Amino acid sequence: MKPSSEMIELMEKGFDFENFLNTHINGILAVREDGRLLLADHDATTLLGYSPSQLNGQPVSLILPKLQLPIAGQGRPQQGHTIAIQKNGEEIPVSYTVRQSPAEVEERIFFLLLFQDVAEKQKAGQDLMQSQKTLEAVINTAVDGIIIIDKKGIMQMANPAASRLFGYEVDEMRGQNVNILMPSPHAGEHDGYISNYLKTGTEKIIGIGREVEGLRKDGARFPFKLGVSRVELEGKVLFAGVIHDLTEQKRAEARILYLNKELEQKVEERTEKLTEVVNKLLQSNIKLEREIKERKAAEAALRQKQEQLRRSLEKEKELSELKSRFVSMASHEFRTPLTTIASSTELLGLYTESGQQEKRDKHLRRIKSAVTNLTGILGDFLSLSKLEEGKIQVNPVPFTLENLGEEVVEEMQSLLKPGQQLRTDFRDVQQNTFLDKKILKNIFINLLSNAIKYSGERSTVHFELFQEGQTIRAAIRDEGIGIPKEDQKHLFTRFFRATNSVNIQGTGLGLNIVKRYIDLLDGRIWFESKEGEGTAFFIEITWQKE
Ligand code: ADP
Repeated sequence: MKPSSEMIELMEKGFDFENFLNTHINGILAVREDGRLLLADHDATTLLGYSPSQLNGQPVSLILPKLQLPIAGQGRPQQGHTIAIQKNGEEIPVSYTVRQSPAEVEERIFFLLLFQDVAEKQKAGQDLMQSQKTLEAVINTAVDGIIIIDKKGIMQMANPAASRLFGYEVDEMRGQNVNILMPSPHAGEHDGYISNYLKTGTEKIIGIGREVEGLRKDGARFPFKLGVSRVELEGKVLFAGVIHDLTEQKRAEARILYLNKELEQKVEERTEKLTEVVNKLLQSNIKLEREIKERKAAEAALRQKQEQLRRSLEKEKELSELKSRFVSMASHEFRTPLTTIASSTELLGLYTESGQQEKRDKHLRRIKSAVTNLTGILGDFLSLSKLEEGKIQVNPVPFTLENLGEEVVEEMQSLLKPGQQLRTDFRDVQQNTFLDKKILKNIFINLLSNAIKYSGERSTVHFELFQEGQTIRAAIRDEGIGIPKEDQKHLFTRFFRATNSVNIQGTGLGLNIVKRYIDLLDGRIWFESKEGEGTAFFIEITWQKE
């Protein structure tokens, strides 16, 4: 603040401005005894909205209409609150101090007036009151109990919720030790808690919050959650406790526990029942599975029986087919040898003369050959029907191939055509073999008689035998009519006869029988043939040790 000339003059006359300035002031006025303004400082004019010159000489009531100046000569300063009017007419609350100036200007008394805008302060006061009221309302209407105790445990304040919870009147609680609200042993130990806390700072509850039990005036206990905070107010240590009733929560918890237990029991019961049902189900499953198994086995047995039946029916059918085929074949094939026998026997009766012996011999040979033919056909048929019925048993015996070969060659001699030769090539055949000799002999006789039958006079038939370890190999080669290419694949089929052999007697059974014999001995048979050039059959059989 820049001092005006009047202020300098005042200061020269010993006025203590410093004292005034130490107070928070917003304005300084010097007022003459007649109530007219002598001066107004910069702050005063600014606050009131005037320029300094505008206020000089004006009555002080213009700006402070309700101010009563003190009576001159009393000397004591006067303080108070009043309203100041701004130039724009707005009112502002001010506090003021007015006193008679110790000095005089031009021998006239004047007053010094300091004033301060208290609008802010007033507002702060109002705010404080408002917040106090709010706080009070909050405390009074709080659902949770609030109790404030001092460091000796004496209750300083309790809110209505606390009174409701503990069953005491608010006034009854105030001044009492808080331990009346606690059941033993906490009641007895509570003072100790506080002093221990104050001494060591070790917090049992403060700032932590825990669940404790409260004791009502009527002796009933109830659970609550306690939160305690330490408050320092005007140098005094206080503790504020917030009591949150847990009765309902505990009841709900207990109910939940009860319901849970009930549920668990129900679950257990149901599980037991379920286990029972599952067990029954499992058992019936096992039973069912067993039944299914049994049924499957029965079905399999039935199928097997059916299959057996089908097979035996088929065999039956085949056999009857075979028989009828044989009857038709026999009626045809038997005719020629039987006619031969009939005519030759008749002629034999005619050649009675002694010189006709040659003729008789010729007819006897014819008869013999026809009988051999018939025997062969019958033999084949018997073999086949035995094979069909599974009556042929493999009966291995020790014998040498050499021996067997020679026997076969011997038997073949009578079949050879004029000029035909049977050449043998037997190698390593002195060792014993272990096979069914009868079957093997049949095979060789069949193949050799075919070779002789299907080749011409003066041709050669080769019979080769070779033995190596437990394997025998045989080849029967001829220079005969051969087998047409297109017929070769059917050669081992029953009753099959190649197209180029229709004029030669035969039944189509021999090779089929040979193939079956070879199969019985687990051997192999194959052939090479060229029509018009000749045929070679090959055999390979391995036997198991004796
Ligand atoms: P079959 O000789 O009684 O007719 P096989 O079963 O022994 O009956 O022979 C079947 C057919 O194979 C014969 O009819 C013949 O056509 C042909 N065949 C067999 N062996 C020979 C061979 N060595 N040379 C030419 N053809 C043959």
